[in-house]
Amino acid sequence: MTHLLIEPAQEGREDLAAYRARGGYAGLEAARTRGSGWVLEQVTRAGLRGRGGSGDGRPIGQKWQRVAASRVPERYVVANAAESQAVSRKDRYLLARFPHRVLEGLLIAAQALGAREAYLYVRGDSPEALDGARDAVAEAGAAGLLGGVSVTVQPSAPTAVSGEETAILDALEGLEGYPQPKPPRPEEIGLRGRPTLVQNAESLAAVAALFRLGVDRVRAVGTPTCPGTALFTVTGAVDRPGVYEVPHGTPLAQLLALAGAPPREEILAVLPGGLGSGPLRPDELDVPLTYEDLAALGSSLGNSAVVVFRRADATLPDLVRENVALLARGSCGQCRGCREGHEGLLRALEAGDATEARRRAEVLLYGRGNCAFPTGTARFALRALQEFPAFARP
Ligand code: SF4
Repeated sequence: MTHLLIEPAQEGREDLAAYRARGGYAGLEAARTRGSGWVLEQVTRAGLRGRGGSGDGRPIGQKWQRVAASRVPERYVVANAAESQAVSRKDRYLLARFPHRVLEGLLIAAQALGAREAYLYVRGDSPEALDGARDAVAEAGAAGLLGGVSVTVQPSAPTAVSGEETAILDALEGLEGYPQPKPPRPEEIGLRGRPTLVQNAESLAAVAALFRLGVDRVRAVGTPTCPGTALFTVTGAVDRPGVYEVPHGTPLAQLLALAGAPPREEILAVLPGGLGSGPLRPDELDVPLTYEDLAALGSSLGNSAVVVFRRADATLPDLVRENVALLARGSCGQCRGCREGHEGLLRALEAGDATEARRRAEVLLYGRGNCAFPTGTARFALRALQEFPAFARP
């Protein structure tokens, strides 16, 4: 299996010496030597997609270009490792085990966008990830690698939506860390009113890999529309839960086999992209892991947290009700449509009224607030209600 983001054989945390021995920070040096235009061109040519929890896989290059296009000279860059959505573990794993890869990607972004201040926004209840981030900044600083960029490690706010990008800006400005109305997007008006790149930690590790290995090497892996590899958190009814790196386009069944999932006939459903993704039936597990293939099935790659449910452990109605209850508790509650929409959906499921549940989920689907959280709940519920025999219409 090709690995671009991690070294499976690495024991403990990869320190600066180990990372440099593998070519680490040579990409940053090249970026600083060849300049912003070249860096932006490489990022755009590589076609890397954002790996954040929104799951839409927006091209990283487009996001960087929007910040670069601003006439405001003062910019900020933020690595998002808040990983606030339930189940996902990949970003804190990266920070705990391979923090220099995220930091190098962040410094390359700072160089490309002319930012002098950078933030590593790290899940606040993960001491391993926070220690990894702090150690990496200290090591890179002592080695003179920061290049005049001030890097602050900031623990994330303790909310289920703290990883949403405007919530991060809110928290970095000393507020509670709640999602804000959009537009404007952070690339236009972000931290302290300045253009700000908020980029997921795994995405930044992919940028570091790109500048370490080159565009051709990265594009040789994955698919034409989803180049490279991705980290997946696999959990639930599997023998070897954990974080796995596989190329985009790998069949989901192959990833499940790596994690020791039960045979198909024992599987009830699989969530491919976190709790807010459409559940897949056992006969759909050969789907290639790309944004497009999962969207075509009415599901999503989401935060690439794969959850396996076994028939012997739950019935589908129970699973759907419990998952929606979990998601409803994650809503920060500041938007009435999201709060009441979750409550109404849950009430309908508890009453066993699939028709009303469908209606409620359809209302939630098109967004009822400041962030995409309710859309995830709706995607999950609608696909379960439409595609599984347990909810067949009379
Ligand atoms: S849509 Fe829901 S989760 Fe998002 S900010 Fe509004 S209340 Fe919070």
